[in-house]
Parts: sequence; structure tokens; C-alpha cells
Amino acid sequence: MDRDKVRLSREQSLCPCKSREIYGLCCGPFHSAKSFPETAEQLMRSRYSAYFFRLLDYLVDTTHPDVKTPALREELERTIDSAKWIFLTILKTSKGQAGDKAGKVEFAADFYHDGEIKTLRAHSRFRRFKGLWKYVDDKG
Ligand SMILES: [Zn+2]
Repeated sequence: MDRDKVRLSREQSLCPCKSREIYGLCCGPFHSAKSFPETAEQLMRSRYSAYFFRLLDYLVDTTHPDVKTPALREELERTIDSAKWIFLTILKTSKGQAGDKAGKVEFAADFYHDGEIKTLRAHSRFRRFKGLWKYVDDKG
């Protein structure tokens, strides 16, 4: 199959972040830097989809410089295939809106690992850097 067809079908498929929107109108434009997330939840969703599609550069770029280690990309390369992401549920958000500087998103993410389905439930924290939302850390 030629590459354009693959790209087209991904653009028109439902977004892996489970927004029920198609990828080309949801996380796709963020991944291709055509636009930037306006809310912490949009960044959270687009990072989940980036894990799904193995978009390491996006994951590195959207990590806040205060917590980004030089080894981050290597760590992601080593670990990204260990979980197959199945479903994302956003449980609660606090702040993280267009006028905020920080935000928190509580989520449950189901994944397949070592033959079992598991759920990661955590709060991700986000802060703006130069106006753009960046991921800071997770608290269980
Ligand atoms: Zn999405």
C-alpha cells in the first residue's frame, strides 16, 4: 500500500485518544505541529495518542524542560513497546484551560502488558512553557 493511502486512512480513522473524533480533526494537527493544544486535557489526549502511534519526538517535545532529562528519548525508545494502549478515560480535570498556567488531568488508561489487561490510574500535571502546554509528571 502506498504511504499516502496509509496516511489518509489514519487521518480519517477515529482518534486513538477515544474522543470519538477523527484523528485528522483531533490529535493529528498537534502531532504535525499544525496547531497546539489549548487545554491540558488536549495535550494529555495527544500524548496518549502519541504513545499509541510511537511518536517519540512528540513525547519529548511536549515534556516540560524542567523535568526533561537528556536520556528521555532513549528511555522512551526502550520502554514504549512494553505496553499496548487500549483505552483512555479522562476522569476529571482541574484548571488547565485556555487562561490557566497549570493544570491537572485525572485519567484511567487501559493497556495490554505481558498477556494481561491492566489499568493505569493517575493524575498528570501540566504547566505552560513559552505559552504552550507541557507535561510535568504523574501522581498515582
Ligand atoms: Zn485525539
